[in-house]
Order: sequence, then C-alpha cells, then structure tokens
Amino acid sequence: MTVELGIDLGTTYTVAAVIKDGRPQIITNAEGQRLTPSAVAFTPEGEPLVGQAAKSQAAANANRTILSIKRYMGSDHRVKVGKKEYTPQEISSFILRKVKADVERYLGERADRAVITVPAYFNDLQRSATKEAGALAGLDVIRIINEPTAAALAYGVDREDVHNVLVWDLGGGTFDVSILSLGQGIFEVRAVSGDSWLGGDDYDRRLMDYLAREYRRQRGIEVAPVDYNAWQALREVAEKAKIELSQDVTTKVILSLGNSEDGLRNLELTLTRDKFQELTADLLKTMVAPTREALSDAGLDPNQIDRVVLVGGATRMPAVQALARDLLGKEPYRYINPDEVVAMGAAIQAGILQGVVKKAVLLDVTPLSLGVEAQGGLFARVIPRNTPVPASEGRIFTTAVDNQTSVDVHVLQGERELALYNISLGEFHLDGIPPLPKGVPKIEVVFDIDVDGIVHVSATSLLGENTQAIEVVSSKTLSHEEIERLVAEANSSTDEDGDNRERR
Ligand code: AMP
Repeated sequence: MTVELGIDLGTTYTVAAVIKDGRPQIITNAEGQRLTPSAVAFTPEGEPLVGQAAKSQAAANANRTILSIKRYMGSDHRVKVGKKEYTPQEISSFILRKVKADVERYLGERADRAVITVPAYFNDLQRSATKEAGALAGLDVIRIINEPTAAALAYGVDREDVHNVLVWDLGGGTFDVSILSLGQGIFEVRAVSGDSWLGGDDYDRRLMDYLAREYRRQRGIEVAPVDYNAWQALREVAEKAKIELSQDVTTKVILSLGNSEDGLRNLELTLTRDKFQELTADLLKTMVAPTREALSDAGLDPNQIDRVVLVGGATRMPAVQALARDLLGKEPYRYINPDEVVAMGAAIQAGILQGVVKKAVLLDVTPLSLGVEAQGGLFARVIPRNTPVPASEGRIFTTAVDNQTSVDVHVLQGERELALYNISLGEFHLDGIPPLPKGVPKIEVVFDIDVDGIVHVSATSLLGENTQAIEVVSSKTLSHEEIERLVAEANSSTDEDGDNRERR
C-alpha cells in the first residue's frame, strides 16, 4: 500500500497529514510532535540534522544551521556550509525526506506521492523550486496548491452553505490573503494577494533589534549580527517573548549572552504588549493594502465576506486579530488550529486526486499576471492575475522593423506596466519569420499555466513554419531582494508606470 501525503512545507514548521477513514489526520513525527521545525543543520562531521534536533542546537552551531529556507526558494541564494554549497531546494529536500520517512514509520506504508502547499503569492520560480525539492526527497509531487486555498478546503469540506471566505495567512515568512467562494462542494478562488516578505520572523527581528539596543544601553555591549551564536540566542528569546505576549500583556525577558562570572552580561527586562505593538505597528499596517486589493479584485465589499479565517502561527497575535476585526467588521473564525489546517487541506486535495474524497472540486487562480516584453520595454499581459488555472491564452505580436526574421521572446510575471520591473522568467529566440514589412508577420505567443501554477510558453510564427517553446523552470536565478521589490512595488507604482507609458 502507498499513501498520498499532504505537506505544509512552512517557513518555520512543516506538517504532514493523510486521509484516514475519509478524514484528514495529522501524522506525528519520530519525536512524537505534530509540527516538525523547518530546520536543517550539519554537524562538524557534515552529518545532517533535521527538525527539532537541528533547531535545538541552533544557538550553539548557528553558522551550520539553516532556518527559514523557504524565504529563498526560487532564488539564486546558496547556503554555504564548510566547503559545500546547497540550493534552497536541496535544504528543503532534507526536511521533506524526514517527513516522508516519519510518515512511513508511523503508518507502516510507503508514502511516495504528495500534495505540497505554497504561499498563494509564490511565483512560477518558487513553485518550480518547491516541486524540485519534493523530487529531490523522492516524492512525486502530484499537485502544488496555495496554502490559503488548502485552509479553506479543510474548513469547508463539510459545509453545504455558500460562503464568501477571506483567509489571512500570516506565517513565519509570508503573508497571503485569499478570497474564496465555497458552495456545493466547489471551492472557487476569487482573488489572491499578499506580501512574500512579511511574517512572524519580521516581528522577531524587530524585537531582536530592540533587545540588542537595550543590551547596549544597559550593559554597554554590542551584539553584532556577525556573532552568530549570540544572534541566534537573541532570536530565540525574541520569538519566545513575542509568543508569550499573545497570551499575556507583559513578559519577562532574560538575556544572557556569553559567560560571565559576575553576571554583568545578563539583562533582565519586562516587555509589555503595548511596547511590542509600538515596535511593530508598521509591519501590521503592511497587511492592509493586499487585503483591500484582494477585495477589490474579487469585486466584494468587506460586508459581503461571511467568514474570516486566520491561518499561520503569527495570526495568534492579538494585534493581527484586532486588525482583522477593524478591516472586515467581523470576529475572525478561530475554531481550526492555524498550525495544522493547511496540511489537512493538502491531504484533502491529495484525497480528491486519489478519489477517496469525493465531495470537493477546487478552482484555483494564478497570483500574478503573465506576459511578454513588448516594444518600448512595456509589459504586454497575456494572462491577467486571478485567472482560474489551468489556463491557456494566446496573443498575436508582430515585428518592429522591416524584414525582421527573428524575435526574442522575454517572458515575465508581475503587475508593473514596464517590463523591467517585473520578474523575468526566461527568454527564448524564435527565427524563421518570413522577411516582410514591419507589422505584417504574425507571431502567436501562447501561455499555458498548469494546475500547479507552473508556466509553459510557446511562440509560433503563423506565416512561417517555426515554433519555439519553453517550460519556465526554476534554474533561472532570482534574488529574494528582487522578489521583495517586485511584490512591494506592484501596488504602489501603477501611477508612475502609467506616466512612463504615456511618455513612450
Ligand atoms: P507558521 O509558518 O504558520 O508555522 O507560523 C510560524 C510563525 O508564527 C512564527 O513566526 C512563530 O513565531 C509564530 N507564532 C506561533 N505561535 C505564535 C503565537 N502564539 N503568537 C505569536 N506568534 C506565534
């Protein structure tokens, strides 16, 4: 027997679920935990440690411990440990391999096929990298689905009534907003938006900066980020304080960085929830614009949203819940465990594909527009964002000069009007165009997005014989700064792009 897995490959934790007796069930790992830290470390001998074993020794072995690798998926970031270099996919594959082995041990069955979730806002490169991580771990990734969609699937699988559901997913590293309509077993994603560079880690970072400042002020000692072990210890203290402040209005922070017999290096301070919220107010505000954008893309007012579902550990922060209430005018729904709901939804999707879950059909959308670079450096959209997938769409282009027999097709993903500001997915060359006056040849560029949100592009010269096609793959490099810049700028710069467009 083999089982199909649903895996939530999170920034901080990874969770696996399977369908048992028709219902999703979380599988505990070899340590007896339902959540496996998404941590990988290498001992000085080069042996990999994964999960809690890696997380526990992080402070003592910080420069050989890798945390939050998900933030770098699809980028050219490399992790250097000793003399070896790893891609983000390789690091992620260590986590997936452990999850697979733990499930197999727990169930006594093989688990070779999996549905893996990604943030809705992941672009093509990040999705392909996730699929590759699965393959490296020996898993056949039968589907990639969006995390908020998975959450809605887990939440809605038993419901008969129609709902407009807004899902806020704030994890360790990413923020996603999704709006879905659920009804009669059909889950239609109406709109997605988000910020692929906002999450609980940023809140930790704010507290770390504050604590480092206090440490310097009160103890006269600088904690530099290059001091890996001290920085890691600071990170752990900051995360713990953040989590405690979700329960209590004050917390005691004890920092002891390094050894000192006279105890001078210890710092004890009381942190209030108010102070924490003051330090992170701008991070909270960052959630507003993507939420408004998703509502407007879905054509819905806040009062048409029946249910607000919170997913991801960081939505436990009271300020996040208060913001949801303010923005959407209703109490967020919290009866599902935000840490487990995504993996459960992934297992349901695996069950649908396997035929053991019969009730649900899932209609997902592409999170970013796809197109090509047109004359003058403009971005010509072929498939607009929020189009249901799978999708196939073509557009006819022509030549810019007389007797032009070839064109370069530059494939892009993003929302900016100028090609240069969007994410470059790849470039290919089409020749064999008959020599004709400019504007006469017809070149058809066709985009296909598969059910995983992965893009295939082909170009055909309709008057000649030639066709060129590429599958856009994750080998194309993209830095996380680029992703951050593109996503952050997409909302704010429409006017500026419009002005530039006019001038061209
Ligand atoms: P996820 O990626 O969904 O596992 O979310 C992980 C993030 O949620 C991390 O930044 C955690 O520190 C954060 N988190 C977990 N529990 C809490 C809590 N009770 N209060 C605030 N943040 C939390």
